[in-house]
Amino acid sequence: MSKYWNERIHKLEPYIPGEQPKDKRYVKLNTNENPYPPSPKVLQAIRNAADDQLRLYPDPNTDDLRATLAEVTGLTSEHIFVGNGSDEVLAFSFMSFFSPDRPVMFADITYSFYKVYANLCSLEANIIPLDDEFKIPVDAFCKPNGGIVIPNPNAPTGRDISLSSIRKVLDANLDSVVIIDEAYVNFGAESVVPLIKEYPNLLVVQTLSKYSSLAGIRVGFALGNPELIDGLNRLKNSINSYTIDRLALAGAKAAIEDDAYYQQVADKIITTRQKTTKILHELGFNIVPSHANFIFITHPSFNAETLFYNLKEKGILVRYFNQARISNYLRVSIGTDEEMNQFVEAIKEIIKV
Ligand SMILES: *Cc1c(COP(=O)(O)O)cnc(C)c1O
Repeated sequence: MSKYWNERIHKLEPYIPGEQPKDKRYVKLNTNENPYPPSPKVLQAIRNAADDQLRLYPDPNTDDLRATLAEVTGLTSEHIFVGNGSDEVLAFSFMSFFSPDRPVMFADITYSFYKVYANLCSLEANIIPLDDEFKIPVDAFCKPNGGIVIPNPNAPTGRDISLSSIRKVLDANLDSVVIIDEAYVNFGAESVVPLIKEYPNLLVVQTLSKYSSLAGIRVGFALGNPELIDGLNRLKNSINSYTIDRLALAGAKAAIEDDAYYQQVADKIITTRQKTTKILHELGFNIVPSHANFIFITHPSFNAETLFYNLKEKGILVRYFNQARISNYLRVSIGTDEEMNQFVEAIKEIIKV
């Protein structure tokens, strides 16, 4: 609190990011970062871009990167907006497409930033409870609303949604924008990018932070019909025209071009996820079926918050949400095989099996 804050700042309820600890080296399974390095071609592209051109502003329209994205998605550059991480793209989308007079819909258990953005934009939120298995109740999203945001797969549960379910939501909401947040789609879910040309109300948001191992350079993007993209550009150019720096542009382009490398990495992560799931199941955990690079787990006899602190003492960081319905769950990012072995060994010591 400060007398220098205006009323709007007083009213904010900011997001709390996962810890990036500096006190010691942890096995870091708390923020869904990719445990493998970026493609060597990405690192080379960033090194090559570190030259005297850095004195110049970057391209405000990110033309080169958008052309590359257009090529791999089968869309045109007019269908693409690039932002400083997909969090920025999501924030800009809330500001551009949703209005205080019509409620925005999202699930009760989902990416917690949506609530923060709704609050930031003074929007009413119509919060839809997931069912008992944390599945999306599709019909509830087919009632009147002023916009929808759904991650596929959902976070922090890891559950995916079928293309046909999303189609149903899109068909029922032709007058409002439906955002599908595909931050984790490449770890086993099905993308709805092919529906963009069919649905002018669909905005797909993706990020290079998870699949492309580039959380450190902050690049995300939106794919959608050119009217939506124009709206995002109007907003961006009213705040900051140069949101993506030269190094990030170079790295992002190289990442999009080297999908073969990242497919291999994702395959490894999926295999590790399956192995870890099997072992945790044998240890008595219930695991929500995951199509993401993390798992959401609970144990019938061990309290999740206690497990969280016990793991932290042993140098293993996972994510705990003290929130209704999920306060006995842990979200565990999938690390390397070696890291997951350390996690499993620590769990075994804590639960004494
Ligand atoms: C990580 C994450 C994002 C944000 O990604 P950035 O591009 O790093 O800002 C967006 N949505 C969901 C569901 C996420 O988990």
